[in-house]
Amino acid sequence: MPLSDGQPPLQAAKTCELHVHLYGGLFAADLLALGRDYYEKIDWSLFVDSFERAYSKRPDPVALFREALHRQCLDPIEAHYVYGAEDGGDFARFQAKFNMAICIYRHWWKGLDKVEEIWRRVLAHHRREGLRYVEYRVMAPYDHAHPEAFVQFHQLMARFLQQASDPGFEVRYLISLPRWAPLECYRLVQRLLDENEDLIPTVVGLDFCHFEEGYPPASTRAFFRRLRRDNELRPERALDVAYHVGEVYFDKSLESAVRWCHEAAELGARRLGHCTALGLDPEVAAARRSQAHECERVSERLAQIAYDLHHEAALQDCGVPVDAQALMRERGSLSARPGDALVCRAYDPQRLEAVRRRQDFALGRLAALGTVVETCPTSNLRIGAVPDAKDHPVHRFLASDVRLAIGADDPGLFDCTLADEVNWVQRHTGLTADALQARLGDPRHYRFGPRRAR
Ligand SMILES: [Zn+2]
Repeated sequence: MPLSDGQPPLQAAKTCELHVHLYGGLFAADLLALGRDYYEKIDWSLFVDSFERAYSKRPDPVALFREALHRQCLDPIEAHYVYGAEDGGDFARFQAKFNMAICIYRHWWKGLDKVEEIWRRVLAHHRREGLRYVEYRVMAPYDHAHPEAFVQFHQLMARFLQQASDPGFEVRYLISLPRWAPLECYRLVQRLLDENEDLIPTVVGLDFCHFEEGYPPASTRAFFRRLRRDNELRPERALDVAYHVGEVYFDKSLESAVRWCHEAAELGARRLGHCTALGLDPEVAAARRSQAHECERVSERLAQIAYDLHHEAALQDCGVPVDAQALMRERGSLSARPGDALVCRAYDPQRLEAVRRRQDFALGRLAALGTVVETCPTSNLRIGAVPDAKDHPVHRFLASDVRLAIGADDPGLFDCTLADEVNWVQRHTGLTADALQARLGDPRHYRFGPRRAR
């Protein structure tokens, strides 16, 4: 593929950010600047309590800020905010560190009524880095009792982003839906667009993020059915879906984790976040913890049996042995057990090899569907419990035909930039810049919104 517009190689990948959470875009220096006048007044309980649960250590944020200001250095803040390799790939730990920023956001939002200062800082980082197109995602708290708060927040956010967008720095917005109430919140997004038609060009998609364990893609079936119908009825405001899946999946078998990624794509998600389950070698995945991925709920095992029977021929073609008679017998014996009971099965080399073939099968299906995998190297190494750069799923993705985009995810928390992430992939794959550019293409092709009928 020729380089676009005579730009240096990888320029397209380094200037188009498709996977970033706006609230993960604040760096430790921002927190110090935003907290320096208020740290004694901020309600830190969310951060302190979650940090204590995750790290068995109760932090004192007032003392941390005082020390950072006194010593004129970021170390005390960074130690409790930047999520590093030593934090051990645990989503609860990640969330606990993130909560330091959330407490500051809340103070600037509710206490000072100046939340836009926070958003402005994040966008300023990206402008300075030279990004030219960004799709921001934001998850806002949701309470059934106050649906209007959801609408108001996202309206404010979308309007801010729309006003911040210009031809040199184009900004779009994906609204994150809580996994526990997708259809309900999707209806609120539609209400927001009904009431604010001027925001339609900016609100181009929806996102599923945060803890995935406990929320099988199948639970979003009604949402996707409704979305498909609405998109057909009103193509001028069609919304696309980005879906975090196969990122953290210690609650289930490797087969189920692969299946979840495939199911999310089949349901209609156009881009999938992470999909570590499709690219991390099964032997490495299973060795990450004692008895990792050996146990899962009966309901998951039954879903896996249904999947295997449905895809029997295609799986066999990919080298996955499927014994339909044995699966039906197993289904018969499991169906009398409660869905949340655990079923445990140890791994052996044959089973691990079959999982490898399942990954190939699912990646082939994603490629055929045109689904894009958004890979976020640092995030996967730190939250996603990918043990080493050589094990990173990006190697398998690059070797497959799947469409691939690189994202920074939460650059402030990981203390990285999009360019760092692209450089990481180049460095650890040994590809030349031209070869990587040729494989990735221009991520702008995977933007949400451009397919909309005008
Ligand atoms: Zn993400």
